[in-house]
Amino acid sequence: MIHEILPVGMLQCNCSIFGDEATHEAIVIDPGDQIDEILLVLARHKLTVKAIVITHAHIDHVGGAAKLKAATGAPVCMNAKDQELYDGLEMQAAWLGMEPPDRTDVDSPARDGDSLTLGQTSFQVLHTPGHTQGSISLWIPGENKLIAGDTLFRDSIGRTDLPGGDGRQILSSIHTKLMALPETAVVIPGHGPNTTIGREKARNPFLQGL
Ligand SMILES: [Zn+2]
Repeated sequence: MIHEILPVGMLQCNCSIFGDEATHEAIVIDPGDQIDEILLVLARHKLTVKAIVITHAHIDHVGGAAKLKAATGAPVCMNAKDQELYDGLEMQAAWLGMEPPDRTDVDSPARDGDSLTLGQTSFQVLHTPGHTQGSISLWIPGENKLIAGDTLFRDSIGRTDLPGGDGRQILSSIHTKLMALPETAVVIPGHGPNTTIGREKARNPFLQGL
């Protein structure tokens, strides 16, 4: 499996590009910005985008979804509980002093328990609310990898002081959904360096005493 992680945009959101060598299909997760560079990576590996998955509707994660969809024709998958946040994309842009990017329709809801397949590999949707109400994580058992969005970081967790945030709920999501995964699972957070479930279980200061 091809997996490239591209930190994009002003807030350096980790955009993940997964590609299957046999089918040449790709799943792009969190194309927040720098769509031209994402398209170059796809072209370099001769990949066709099958799905665009959004972990949550903050502008740094979803900002380039419309542009990537226009360029590839791939459907956008996002949890419906973040639609309201996505509808407020212009307002999010204003908070950051950015030009508002185009918005698009969400094609598929990314509900808890849904899964996408890329070649032989399944990408399982875990609804992990707390950072936002529609936050999801993607568990890829065949790769032993978790795409955590802004729910879990190395040594930290997602902020819960923005609209739709809930501090108790994010801890419950992490405890019940993420800490249940294998300790060896590699976590790719929405920002910053990778980690593992085991490392965060042992050392993340926000998760001690859970
Ligand atoms: Zn966020």
